[in-house]
Amino acid sequence: LQRTFSIVKPNAVADNNIGAIYHRFETAGLKIIASKMLHLSKEQAEGFYAEHKGRPFFAPLVEFMTSGPLMVQVLEGEDAVSRNREIMGATNPADALAGTLRADYATEMRENAVHGSDAPESAAREIAYFFSDDEIC
Ligand code: ATP
Ligand code: MG
Repeated sequence: LQRTFSIVKPNAVADNNIGAIYHRFETAGLKIIASKMLHLSKEQAEGFYAEHKGRPFFAPLVEFMTSGPLMVQVLEGEDAVSRNREIMGATNPADALAGTLRADYATEMRENAVHGSDAPESAAREIAYFFSDDEIC
């Protein structure tokens, strides 16, 4: 079994889609083994997206990710990283396949409803960024 890190972004929380998105994880075989609601500070958001520092979308992305509460969760399942990316759909909701989370819950490229780790290595780093070992069941 593999673990991945996931965020329900502020737009999806504001739109009352936490439950719908958690249901998709569970029906896709991704077990929620840790979960909490956070309102990120600027420093937390900048640190999380450090790889994108210097890109034109960085500042508005940090602004969006600190604009309201979000949910962070650890998902566990077979091929969890790629399975989660599959159900999320493309970064730009205009390119996301029908039935994916971003096709259904994203409003635009930035406010695209969910984050999911892109590799097992980034998953481990991102899980450790938000969760201590005793918060993971
Ligand atoms: P995520 O890392 O959130 O799972 P991703 O791996 O599909 O998404 P990245 O390239 O890592 O996409 O970009 C991180 C996030 O930055 C995107 O999810 C999106 O919210 C935002 N983003 C990326 N590119 C753009 C862009 N060109 N314009 C606006 N926002 C962008
Ligand atoms: Mg990414």
